[in-house]
Amino acid sequence: MRRPELTRRELIKQVAVWGSAMPPLRLGAHQSQSKTAAGRLRVTCVGGHPDDPESGCAGTLARYAESGHRLTIVYLTRGERGIGGKTNQEAAAIRTAECEEACEILGARAVYAGQIDGSADFTRARVDEMQKLLLVENPDVVFTHWPMDTHMDHQAASLCTLRACLALKTRPQLYLFEVNTGSQTFGFSPNIYVDITGTLEKKKAALFAHKSQNAEGIWKNHHEVIASWRGREAGVKAAEAFFRVNRDQPVELPGL
Ligand SMILES: [Zn+2]
Repeated sequence: MRRPELTRRELIKQVAVWGSAMPPLRLGAHQSQSKTAAGRLRVTCVGGHPDDPESGCAGTLARYAESGHRLTIVYLTRGERGIGGKTNQEAAAIRTAECEEACEILGARAVYAGQIDGSADFTRARVDEMQKLLLVENPDVVFTHWPMDTHMDHQAASLCTLRACLALKTRPQLYLFEVNTGSQTFGFSPNIYVDITGTLEKKKAALFAHKSQNAEGIWKNHHEVIASWRGREAGVKAAEAFFRVNRDQPVELPGL
C-alpha cells in the first residue's frame, strides 16, 4: 500500500515558508505566543547522543523549563558505543542514567528514539519513527542539530527531525543548534541568539551529569569557549546560537 506523504505542492509551500528572507539578528526573547490551553508551550529537543542536547542548547532549554513550559529531550541513541571497555548494553545503561540525571536538572522528560550510537541512519522508516514520536509530543518548538557535522549520528538526528517536522500539520517552530563547532559542527550560520547567562550553571550541571564522557574536560575545551564566544557576539556574558528555520513567525524565540 502506498504510504501517506506530503504532496509535492504541500512540500513546496512549506519549504517556501521556511526559506524566505533572512530576518534581522536579535537576542531572544520575552514574549509569549503559547497555544496550549494551559498557556504552556511544548518544547522538544532531539539530539544524536546523550550530552548533545545539553551541549547544544541546555541553557535555552533550562530557560523554557524555568518559564513553566513543557520540555522533552529526545535522545536518538543511548550512546551505546561511547564508553571504552563496555558492551553496548552496559554503556547504554550507564548513559541512560546520566541522561535521566541531566533531564532532572533541566526539568525535562527524557525519551529514547531507539537508534544505535555509531550507526544511526536517515531512512524513510527512521523518519516515520521520528514522526510518530513527534506526533505524540505535538511540539510547538523543536530544537535539533545543524545538519552539517562531522558525526553522521548528528546528521541523522537532524535530518530525521527536519523531515518529520515537515510532515507535521502543526508545523512547529524549528531551531538548529551547534555542537563543538570547529570540531564537529561546520558551516554553522546562526541567525538568533539566546542569553543564557542566568542558566549557564544549570547547563554546566546538566553536562557534568554525563560523567562517562569527561564532561568537565569537554566543557573547558569546547562549551565554555562557545558560550563565551556566542555571548560576545550577542553582547551578553553567555549565549547559545541557533539557526532559525521558520521565517514566517517573529524572530524571537516564542515563550521565553
Ligand atoms: Zn554527539
